Amino acid sequence: MPEKRDYYEILGVPRNATLNEIKSAYRKLALKYHPDKNPGNPEAEAKFKEATEAYEVLRDEQKRKIYDQFGHAGLGGAGAQGFGQTAYSDFSDIFAGTSFEDIFENLFAGAGFGRSRTAHSPRRGSDLRYNLEISLEDVYHGKEEEIVIPREETCPDCNGTGSADGRLETCHICGGSGQVRRSTGFFSVATTCNTCGGTGRLVKNRCRTCNGGGTVTKRRKLAIRIPAGIDSGTRLKIAGEGEAGPYGGPSGDLYVVVQVRKHPNFERDGVDLITHIDVPVTTAMLGGEVTVETLDKSKVKIKIPPGTQPDTLFRVRGKGLPYMGGQGRYGDLIAHARIEIPKSLSNRAKSLVRELEAELQASGSGIFGRFR
Ligand SMILES: [Zn+2]
Ligand SMILES: [Zn+2]
Repeated sequence: MPEKRDYYEILGVPRNATLNEIKSAYRKLALKYHPDKNPGNPEAEAKFKEATEAYEVLRDEQKRKIYDQFGHAGLGGAGAQGFGQTAYSDFSDIFAGTSFEDIFENLFAGAGFGRSRTAHSPRRGSDLRYNLEISLEDVYHGKEEEIVIPREETCPDCNGTGSADGRLETCHICGGSGQVRRSTGFFSVATTCNTCGGTGRLVKNRCRTCNGGGTVTKRRKLAIRIPAGIDSGTRLKIAGEGEAGPYGGPSGDLYVVVQVRKHPNFERDGVDLITHIDVPVTTAMLGGEVTVETLDKSKVKIKIPPGTQPDTLFRVRGKGLPYMGGQGRYGDLIAHARIEIPKSLSNRAKSLVRELEAELQASGSGIFGRFR
């Protein structure tokens, strides 16, 4: 670490300098080395911090006394720790009620450099989010959906001026600049004028349509194309359909967030669909066919081999969901076999099952085999 420079030396003032001399010396250095004026210049930033630290100590009678007597060491952590939390909080004290960031946003705005944003600068409008719920069938087929979104648009009756007769007068508080300057010490801080909201103008007769606000909430209809195969949670960006940008700025974007409703018969697993089929116990034992209905309501026959066990999965190729942008490619339908066991039996059926039971035990086949 290089040795700390003397605070008086940093500010270029004599040791007996008055508070005003210290302030004016710091002001000059701050204006010269302010980070906003020297973007990406770490040397300037270091100089700015160094000067600020020196000023923080020398402007304070107590700290200055200690510094004069004991040097940097006398200040212990406070002065020596650099442009850290201490300096920040001291700044907050100077500009009580204004955040540090605000100060630096506004501090040198009047000096003709930095990120000075005036109230009338065009700004980009806000993005809007619209939640759209669709069915699994919509995912299968794709969909054109008309949605209605409320959004702020320029009032047509006053062209956004907020004035009924088009007459505006200059704001008497800020004199039309849209900003008021507050003097605190030698700093002059510009903040947005509350009276006119930064526009610099006041409306004489408020427009009745927008109540002087200059914007109205319009319900806008938009046709949205939902591509087949879309996933839940997908954000569709519709450029330029967000809120209008203030003062002629570009509009924000609209994001349509798609949610797929649960389906009573099908569960989704990527592009595959999972469903279940009921297989009569006799079909499960003897083999046969069962019919399953696909999502698009077509019927597909599934071959059940003899001895089919519960929870067997049958895969029907190409009967799932379309791949998004997959040009005719589809996932599979996975049918989960549930074996149907009759809940009540006729006397004849009972006797047949008993006969079957006896036969199975005798031949040691099927489920009785393992007890042999
Ligand atoms: Zn004003
Ligand atoms: Zn209006």
